[in-house]
Amino acid sequence: MLGTRIAPLVAILDRAIVRLLPAVPQPLVERLAQRYIAGPELKDARETVRRLNRDGKMATIDVLGEEITSEADAAAIVRAYQDVFADIEHCGLDSNVSVKLTALGLKLDYDVCRANLESVVRDAATRGNFVRIDMEDSSCTDDTLRLYRELREAGHDNLGVVLQAYLRRTVDDIHRLADLKPNVRLCKGIYVEPPEIAFRDFEAVRANFVQALRELFDAGAYVGIATHDEWLVDEGRRTVSERRLETSEYEFQMLLGVREDLGRRLVADGHRLRIYVPFGRHWYAYSLRRLQENPKIAGYIAADTLGRVIPFRNGR
Ligand SMILES: Cc1cc2nc3c(=O)[nH]c(=O)nc-3n(C[C@H](O)[C@H](O)[C@H](O)COP(=O)(O)OP(=O)(O)OC[C@H]3O[C@@H](n4cnc5c(N)ncnc54)[C@H](O)[C@@H]3O)c2cc1C
Repeated sequence: MLGTRIAPLVAILDRAIVRLLPAVPQPLVERLAQRYIAGPELKDARETVRRLNRDGKMATIDVLGEEITSEADAAAIVRAYQDVFADIEHCGLDSNVSVKLTALGLKLDYDVCRANLESVVRDAATRGNFVRIDMEDSSCTDDTLRLYRELREAGHDNLGVVLQAYLRRTVDDIHRLADLKPNVRLCKGIYVEPPEIAFRDFEAVRANFVQALRELFDAGAYVGIATHDEWLVDEGRRTVSERRLETSEYEFQMLLGVREDLGRRLVADGHRLRIYVPFGRHWYAYSLRRLQENPKIAGYIAADTLGRVIPFRNGR
């Protein structure tokens, strides 16, 4: 009874805290977001991937860096990816990489970004590895898909992209990409977009995800089904089973620190699961997005704040 009275209040508190998160002090954001990030250094990502591999999971390593402001910063990100590829090869890790085009300079200069991406993709190819371009907010969608097409048409086959089910354009994008037999991660989408271009309703996003998944398989795409939504995971399992796909023809994907129970079940049932492993010093923007999605965020912040305001009995 008490629970049903409190639930709406918690939901209101959650929404208020999500809006206020950018005002939360960075050290608190950092502490709360630790579970989502491997750490500041490459060795942190390496250890995380080793642990995931031991548990039968693959990984995709992301060098955090979307907050870069200069071409020199973007060049440093390219070098960081070179180190990542060398490390993956040297340590025999089962991992590819994910890149954000803004970290490679997309907002500075399209051609600089293209050259940086090409350099990362070539380096991956020489080491038999693969690069996934993350999808960022809608100001990046056209350029991202254009770069994906340009590089695939230039013969770079070790390259994949991401499509977001909340965007109304996504099914059309799948049709436009079909000739490339694309390698696509399908996710709901995390950025705040206006209703003219994005579905806002939870069920509408789910429905578009399911339709996009079918269209991708129809187009002969390799799909990374990226979700922690149990209902969508079940839809994914049903779809691959109906189509009698081999486990090598698709994969599930999840974020580090989210729904590990669900991931373990997928692996136990014989599906391939890839975990997104971000690392690096530019952790703030990524952390905010993850915390904003955490349904228990209000509780965590309240507990943390109370823990510091009300001293423990032992005087700590
Ligand atoms: C591997 C991977 C890569 C991604 N890449 C991109 C990308 O390139 N571009 C992009 O826009 N988005 C990306 N996303 C994010 C994605 O768009 C969604 O915002 C995110 O996955 C949450 O949606 P969901 O499908 O898990 O469903 P939701 O309904 O949001 O979540 C389902 C359940 O998962 C749990 N959960 C979800 N998030 C959290 C969290 N942060 N903390 C704790 N519990 C949580 C909760 O129990 C929740 O009820 C990626 C997601 C994954 C898994």
